[in-house]
Amino acid sequence: MSARLDELNLDLVAASRVDGAGAEWALAREKGGHRLVVAAPPGSRILEGFEGETAGSATGAVLVGLTSPKNAAALRRHLEWLRPRPLGTRTSAGLGDRLGLATPGHVRAVRAVGGFAAIAPIFPQQSIREMTRTGRTPAEVMDDATWGMFAEGWTDGTGADADHLKTTADIDACLAVGFSMFTIDPGEHVDSSADSADLATLRARAAGLPWVDLSDTESAMRRRYLGQSTVVEHLTIAFDEATLLRAAVKYGRAVAHVARMARHLRRAAGPRLVELEVSVDETETPTSPAEHYWVANELNRLEVAWVSLAPRFVGRFEKGVDYIGDLGELEKDVAAHAALARHFGPYKLSLHSGSDKFSVYPIAARLAKGLVHLKTAGTSYLEALRTAAAVDPAFFRAVYAFARERYETDKASYHVSAELRKAPLAADVPVGDLPGLLEQFDAREILHVTFGSVLKETGPDGKLRFKDTLFALLRSNPEAYARNLETHFVKHLKPFVGVRS
Ligand SMILES: [Zn+2]
Repeated sequence: MSARLDELNLDLVAASRVDGAGAEWALAREKGGHRLVVAAPPGSRILEGFEGETAGSATGAVLVGLTSPKNAAALRRHLEWLRPRPLGTRTSAGLGDRLGLATPGHVRAVRAVGGFAAIAPIFPQQSIREMTRTGRTPAEVMDDATWGMFAEGWTDGTGADADHLKTTADIDACLAVGFSMFTIDPGEHVDSSADSADLATLRARAAGLPWVDLSDTESAMRRRYLGQSTVVEHLTIAFDEATLLRAAVKYGRAVAHVARMARHLRRAAGPRLVELEVSVDETETPTSPAEHYWVANELNRLEVAWVSLAPRFVGRFEKGVDYIGDLGELEKDVAAHAALARHFGPYKLSLHSGSDKFSVYPIAARLAKGLVHLKTAGTSYLEALRTAAAVDPAFFRAVYAFARERYETDKASYHVSAELRKAPLAADVPVGDLPGLLEQFDAREILHVTFGSVLKETGPDGKLRFKDTLFALLRSNPEAYARNLETHFVKHLKPFVGVRS
């Protein structure tokens, strides 16, 4: 095909140019953002699904259009590599992006560590909770990632993770816009108090489990497990009555809920290929190896297929900071969960709140032998703030001061332990030290969990106090933001590359 795009008087984004699927494709820089440019040969009907201005000539037709939802959807129809697909058990990483401008930096980080073959990326990823908090729809999450991949010329493919889904309506909303991975979070149905319940209490509660939903009876379950012991690699999993009832009471309702959600997903997806993750990471107490065994065995019996599972590990996986706890204990715990994941799947161990856990990565990569999904989200917002701190320190200082005000309220739905009194006062930090707040444990968590308030806050004039400025700043410094993201994420991804066996 002739390079018709070169004949146009447009400021093309070089990395975005693709020649394929019957046309030439690119982004062009224009005041106020990007435009989509598609050059189609004579007689082609490709442009019909797009919106914009079309000019025709003897060599074909050229469309210049907005980066609109309609054009994003049309791009995904024509360029199959922009269409999310299941990733199976390959080593993978979720690169959640609360602002919608991080995908170019994420793409560069994945490329820098060896690309799709080294670690399969999930660029569109957001939980329903964070969508609500940032005022985004599943379609916007999808489209922002589409434009980000397109801008960087990423043609190797992606998954798309509809994260922490709690209802069938959540599934439907995300399925409709092309998500390919569905993370079912039955956390509300996990009864963590079972951990400390005595046998009499466990017996009483077991009798009240939703046995019909589980297609089971208590006596049948007892027959399947009691007195049995199973060797799983280095583990011997045995169930006495207390261990069995504790697992059933703690996770029985959660298993029933996952089975219900999985059946709904299968029906709703029809012939489309999708994959499912089970996550119980956001619960009070750790998932013991016996409990993991019970959950996986029961989900199998109920014919649920899943590609990854996020147990609640020992210690604390707090947002945006390294692991808190005994690494030796964690190593034992990961080894057990990884063995069970190989035994029942193989499926991947999913590391939620996975960003910034630099001491965990080598352990998880080695013990799970690359059967890992690393999930990150808010840390990319912190890199946006790092970019802001360098470009406009006064603005960053104001964000931080506001975050301190919001922290006690906003921390409620997160696992964080930062304390206000340990985080410097905004006014006390010299300009040159402001970026350093992103390395201070307490300040970092405070900035992390307050993003929703920062994005929503309006001033006395009714205008958004921070959001528009932050976006304008990132849009006018895309290279600085992408560089910060690349540096940060290479550190996350590298430990997982090349450990597959
Ligand atoms: Zn999670």
